[in-house]
Formats: sequence, C-alpha cells, structure tokens
Amino acid sequence: MINLLDFDRDGLTRWCVEQGEKPFRATQLFRWIHQRGVADFSQMSDLAKSLRGKLEGAAEVRGLPIISEQVSRDGTVKWLFDVGGGNAVETVFIPEDDRGTLCVSSQAGCAVACRFCSTGHQGFSRNLSTGEILAQLWHAEHQLRRRLSLPEGERAITNVVMMGMGEPLQNYSALVPALRAMLDDHGYGLSRRRVTVSTSGVVPMIERLMADCPVALAVSLHAPTDELRDDLVPLNRKYPLNELLDACRAYLQAAPRDFITFEYCMLDGVNDHPEQAQALLDLVRGRVPCKFNLIPFNPFPASGLKRSARERVVAFANVLQNGGIVTTIRKTRGDDIDAACGQLAGEVQDRTRVQARLEGRRMIPLHAAADQS
Ligand code: SAH
Ligand code: SF4
Repeated sequence: MINLLDFDRDGLTRWCVEQGEKPFRATQLFRWIHQRGVADFSQMSDLAKSLRGKLEGAAEVRGLPIISEQVSRDGTVKWLFDVGGGNAVETVFIPEDDRGTLCVSSQAGCAVACRFCSTGHQGFSRNLSTGEILAQLWHAEHQLRRRLSLPEGERAITNVVMMGMGEPLQNYSALVPALRAMLDDHGYGLSRRRVTVSTSGVVPMIERLMADCPVALAVSLHAPTDELRDDLVPLNRKYPLNELLDACRAYLQAAPRDFITFEYCMLDGVNDHPEQAQALLDLVRGRVPCKFNLIPFNPFPASGLKRSARERVVAFANVLQNGGIVTTIRKTRGDDIDAACGQLAGEVQDRTRVQARLEGRRMIPLHAAADQS
C-alpha cells in the first residue's frame, strides 16, 4: 500500500496524475493530510466520492506507532516511535515563549559514530523514509494542536531542526522531499530560515542541498584542528576542516540566513581550552560568517567523557565573543527525560561494523527511554 506521507506535493501530483486524477486533487489531498491532520479518506469532504474510493483501495496515510511519550518538567515532550525491525527513533518538542521547535530524526542510529553522541555509539541500522521523517512532524503537530486547543490555522510547531537521531545528509534522497513538505504553503508552511539541517559535515551533500533545498544550515564542528576532529567526528577523515569550511562559505550564497551556525559540544579537558577557542577564531574569522552555539555535553553511560564546567564554557564563549563572533550557550532542555542533545538513543539494531570502529570504547545499552520500551 502506498503511503501518502512519502510524497512531497510534486510527488503526490505525479502519483495522482498516474491514477488518472487532475493535478489540483493532489493539492487538496496534501492539505487534508498535512494541514488538517486527517488520515481517513472518508472525511475528506471536498474530494469526489469516486476518488475517495480509489484512494481507499490504493493508498493510506500511515503514521508511526508510538511506543512512549514523556513530558519533561520544563514542558519538553519526547516521543519514541516504532519504525519496525526492533528499531525505534525519537522526536522532541521544545516549547519556548515565542516558538515551538521540533527536533526530528533522520535515521535509525547513525554511521558517523561521533565519540560524544549516544546515537553514534549505537551504530547504524537504516535510513528513515520520507514518510517516516514526515510522520514525526505530522503526529507532533496535530497532537499538540489538539492538546493545546489551538485555534484553527494556528501552528504548534514553528521551527524544525534535523537534530534528532542520525546524519540527515547521509539520507539525502529521503530528506529533501520531507524538507519540501515542511516548506510547502499547502503543507506546514515553514520558512526556509525556520527549518535547519544539522550536519557533521558531509561536504558533497552540503553542495547538493544548496542547489536543491537551501534551508538554514548548522554544522557540528567540535574541534579547531583536524587532528582532534578526526578523533571526535570520524567523518572528518574523509572531509577535513578545510573542505568543510569552503563548503560552508559556498552555502551562504543560497542560504536563508547570512551566517552558518557552528555547533560545538563542550567536553571537559578535550576541546574546551581557551587556546582552542582562539584557534577556532583563527580558523573561521574572515572566512565563514558564522555564529557559535556551545552545547554543554550531555553525558550518557559509556561515553567516558565529562561535561565542561560552566565557568569553562563561559570563558570559551568570551574568547569567541571578544573576537567578534556571536556565541550562545545552549540551554539544556528535557534532560530529566533524556531528551537533551545527544541523549537520543531510541533503540537501534546495529547492522554495521561501527562498533568495531569505536575501538574498544564500550557502548549500549544506553538509554532510559529505550530501556523502558
Ligand atoms: N547528525 C547531525 C544531527 C544530529 S546531532 C549532527 O551531528 O549535526 C545534533 C547535535 O547534537 C549535534 O551538534 C551534535 O554534535 C550534538 N550532540 C551529539 N551528542 C551530544 C551530547 N552527548 N551532548 C551534547 N550535544 C551532543
Ligand atoms: Fe551521528 Fe550527529 Fe551523533 Fe555524530 S553527532 S554520531 S553525526 S547523530
């Protein structure tokens, strides 16, 4: 059975035309699904009965089964979705005064295997489909609207960040249609600056994203030198800092904002020395207009790493700030339900040798949510 969540509007239009329907039917259908959250074709009252009958025989709007939902003291919500085969992925809603951000997963696990990331420690199982990426947003948006009793037309989710489990640019072909549905005025209607792809630095795909769907870009930097970055983010061995920074600079020609956000996870005694902040400054200044977002490391068992002390993070931020780079320190949200950055572990059946590559570092099982499921 075709899952209509697997399509952006162009894809749905092609499919409708193949079924002998007029292209505008796809827009109607798309609006029912994404704007109204309706999965049942019989409720789509402005579609001809004959079309509804046809849809019932050939297609469905298939969301993801929910394993659990947890609400943090600070209002953060975390869902654990079942994606089959023993895998589960997590999605997090972060409410703030002026916005609601959804953190979406792109893969079950991740093959990049960053040292400080619990998803990375789990290994990689598989890419999510477009439908599985969109199902996270579809479910969260419509459930929150009902729960918060929002007036018709008002959105619960104003921003999407592809910062959940997985490396979005290693699942490019499923990612792009999902992004397009987020941006579509007949879908979620989010502006390009309110949709952020976060990447550990898949250089060729940064170049493609620029051409195909240039949303806001966040790049996970974590180190000022190749030597250290090779160790923390193994993908750096393939795409070293020089190439990555060139790709970032080029991306700005098409980006919706005039800066790249660099994320930097603060690890005690590893990458948090003021001299390393100075080295970072020397690396990026005059080369890539950017902002820094320092993320206090969220520990998880088996990482063997520690969070930098608060004063150390502030001192690091000051060096960057004094060098003229806007720097923020990310507030930790939802850590009481393991929903903070890097704590998303879902449940992953590793199908790769990624664990061998982690060379003796011990990993999984990791995660409260996974353990509870
Ligand atoms: N794969 C993408 C997006 C998912 S990770 C990427 O790496 O950019 C989202 C962000 O959380 C990244 O910046 C990542 O470096 C950061 N992160 C991962 N593990 C973390 C941890 N344990 N504590 C704090 N931040 C972490
Ligand atoms: Fe993958 Fe991002 Fe985690 Fe690295 S930080 S292992 S790229 S999810």
